[in-house]
Amino acid sequence: MGQLHTYDEVLSLLFQNLPKPTAERVPLEASAGRVLATAVKADLDLPPFDRVVMDGYAVCSADVRTVPCRLRVVGDVVAGDSPETSVGSNEAVRIMTGAPLPRGADAVQMVEKTVQVGSELVEILEPLVPGENVAPRASEVQKGSVVLRPGEKLSSIEIGVLATFGQHMVEVFRSPRAVIIPTGTELVDVRDIPGPGEIRNSNAYMLKAQCAALGIDADVTPPLGDDRERTAAVFEESKSADLLIFSGGVSMGDRDFVHMVIKDSEARVVFHKAAIKPGKPVLFARRADQVILGLPGNPVSSFVTFELFVRPAARVLCGWRRGGLPRVTARLEAAVSHKPGRLFFKPALLRFEGPGFAVTPIETKGSADLVAFRKANSLLMVPAEATQLEVGSTVEVMALGAFWEEGFENEAYAS
Ligand code: AMP
Ligand code: MG
Repeated sequence: MGQLHTYDEVLSLLFQNLPKPTAERVPLEASAGRVLATAVKADLDLPPFDRVVMDGYAVCSADVRTVPCRLRVVGDVVAGDSPETSVGSNEAVRIMTGAPLPRGADAVQMVEKTVQVGSELVEILEPLVPGENVAPRASEVQKGSVVLRPGEKLSSIEIGVLATFGQHMVEVFRSPRAVIIPTGTELVDVRDIPGPGEIRNSNAYMLKAQCAALGIDADVTPPLGDDRERTAAVFEESKSADLLIFSGGVSMGDRDFVHMVIKDSEARVVFHKAAIKPGKPVLFARRADQVILGLPGNPVSSFVTFELFVRPAARVLCGWRRGGLPRVTARLEAAVSHKPGRLFFKPALLRFEGPGFAVTPIETKGSADLVAFRKANSLLMVPAEATQLEVGSTVEVMALGAFWEEGFENEAYAS
């Protein structure tokens, strides 16, 4: 067996061999979390008219150079009005925030700096400069200018921007159609009590939830029963999916048929195996524009390889420029010894301890120990060649979703 590819090598092979994302039009309401595929231009000026930003009196600033002075109130304008009244010499119009500035006026004195005198007069107590308390038409955005660029992720703020400019249909990148294919003979459903030698098919549910966290509603096939013909048949039937995720069956056992079936097909294997732990047997192949990822079956291995490989691949298919887990450097809180050979993604607890991050490794019983792994919110990257990482050294850590969801305080992890 030759030298295994390093993590960096397989990751760049992954990115080099992903298809381009494709676009579709969706209603604005369905576009949250998606990535914009085209530029969006303003269909109107913002503000669309000279907009008053204070409740008060619209005046001609030249009339109020000497204060206090009295002006005749000739009308009222509220937001939504198209002003009929114009402001003449020594006149004022009572006006509300958001209303268009009446003709003749060039500034607004806020109500707090005025005194109403009877029903027809207002006394202005302080002078104004032209334009005061008025947002001129197009001062925020000019009609025709680009307000959102392709590749921008649509979160609630962008949805607000799109709505401002009348974009009720939005061109976004398509979410991949994903299919999860469990493989093992030993698997029984979550509803069943495992017999001798059997285990519950937990990966199917976990991987589906990991897809859901990326905004992808994945289908799950029944387990293949480690049957070569079934594997080949299901592989053939799933041609139309954009993303195939095999769980298990990619190691070197006699019953690990996934890589054999893929290698026998028209698909092109880009890599199989990497110098990482967990996840050594990971497989990546392409069949036309279909992305195929084979993950080892041990639950922790499945989880980690999903985050390391499926996540960035799926993100790119969804139009993201990158999509790997965020990496930070952190101060190591406990020593870690390591058998050199493969880059080790050690479960860890990351927290923000100003001015930087601190990380504590978490001990588990290995690649099947999902219950202990659950306490982790990050993966400490122990370099392949390292034998020992000392307390206080600076290490690289990948933050899992849990870290961002729970926030820097990690309240949910208090023991
Ligand atoms: P494999 O990668 O197929 O060699 O699987 C390795 C081990 O992972 C198996 O022996 C099972 O204990 C476990 N495993 C495989 N598939 C699943 C699954 N769908 N859910 C939970 N555990 C699994
Ligand atoms: Mg298996």
